[in-house]
Amino acid sequence: MLSKRLKRVADYLQHPVYFADIGSDHAYLPCYICREDPEAKAIAGEVNDGPYNRAKKTVEENELTDRIQVRKGNGLEIISPKDLLNQITIAGMGGKLIRSILDKDKEKLMNVTRLILQPNIDADLLRGWLVNNYYHIAAEEILEEDGYIYEILVADKVNEKAVLTEKERLFGPKLLMERNKVFLKKWKSEREKRIKLLESMKKAKQVPSDKIAHWEKEIQMIEEVIS
Ligand code: SAM
Repeated sequence: MLSKRLKRVADYLQHPVYFADIGSDHAYLPCYICREDPEAKAIAGEVNDGPYNRAKKTVEENELTDRIQVRKGNGLEIISPKDLLNQITIAGMGGKLIRSILDKDKEKLMNVTRLILQPNIDADLLRGWLVNNYYHIAAEEILEEDGYIYEILVADKVNEKAVLTEKERLFGPKLLMERNKVFLKKWKSEREKRIKLLESMKKAKQVPSDKIAHWEKEIQMIEEVIS
């Protein structure tokens, strides 16, 4: 059964569905979509042998080889404009890695109108990249599953650069407006983590003052948002 996290990612794919799932591992997401929607097509991308072989096996077992291609390669290098796909999912990695995957082959995104991203950490880095690259954050979700909290960012290509405030970048413009229970739980815990980090930085004494000021500012922003 597909995780609640990946089901929520799947919900944001637009019809007709033809997408690439980068870092697909078992290819559970493309297989789920193609089982649910007989018109859907997908490309599952994987850089590592183990997950690549797992993806091929799942696609074969589901008898979906005619609609899901499994390709081996680094990030977006496995797609080409000839594929004519317009949506990409990247889930279950850190925000820094997702950002580097997107940034490395930006020209591959020319026809991509929607990105559905699920960073495990550092969602703020991705938000910054998205607005700088003409994507508007159309939707955001925060959810808890098996004791972990996940964020999902849905970004659509636009002609004009959007602007995010510092707070919107850190917390997410949609999540900030909603401030639901999971959001408050996450940021209470993030506040504790930053306070501990700041204490150890201050003890270390050799930490540059701008780094300390950065964490102090984030703690202050978190307190304003969760109070
Ligand atoms: N997307 C699935 C999910 O959300 O459950 C799998 C997430 S798994 C933790 C991350 C996968 O990304 C791994 O299978 C890894 O091999 C793959 N990966 C990491 N860097 C990648 C890259 N640059 N290009 C393609 N795949 C990558």
